[in-house]
Amino acid sequence: MKIAISACLLGNKCRYDGTDNYDPKLLGKLDRHELVAFCPEDFCYGTPRPTMDLIDKNGEIKAISNLTGADLSKPIIEYAKSFFETHKNIDLFIGKDRSPSCGVYSAKLYDKNKNLISTNSTGLMAQEAKKRDIKAIDAEEFLEKGIDI
Ligand code: SF4
Repeated sequence: MKIAISACLLGNKCRYDGTDNYDPKLLGKLDRHELVAFCPEDFCYGTPRPTMDLIDKNGEIKAISNLTGADLSKPIIEYAKSFFETHKNIDLFIGKDRSPSCGVYSAKLYDKNKNLISTNSTGLMAQEAKKRDIKAIDAEEFLEKGIDI
């Protein structure tokens, strides 16, 4: 099976603060599969970098910089499109929970006044996977419940 997976889960130090989310248990479940790593935020904005949050702007979900208030969405969406066009036939997308880019059903969403309105929103890269009808799951759910792969 060909699995697209958040690079930080594999040990890449690409989180905003230069750390990773390495999880040997997760990797143990994936060792017979082809893994294709991605990190939209590192590609677009480098590491380390300021954090971003998902904000609902008149019904559109945008990734907004917590440092500058700039809309950082477009490069992330372009990266995601290019990734899925380059890597065809992805069978499964495993995203890092709660990430505004990679979270599948676990990202926080705020309104324009920064009030929390959801804790099960979808990050911008995960949205692109879903649009392509790629099966997508958060890493924690994958570990807890497992799915047949
Ligand atoms: S959660 Fe996604 S964007 Fe954030 S560090 Fe991991 S791979 Fe990169």
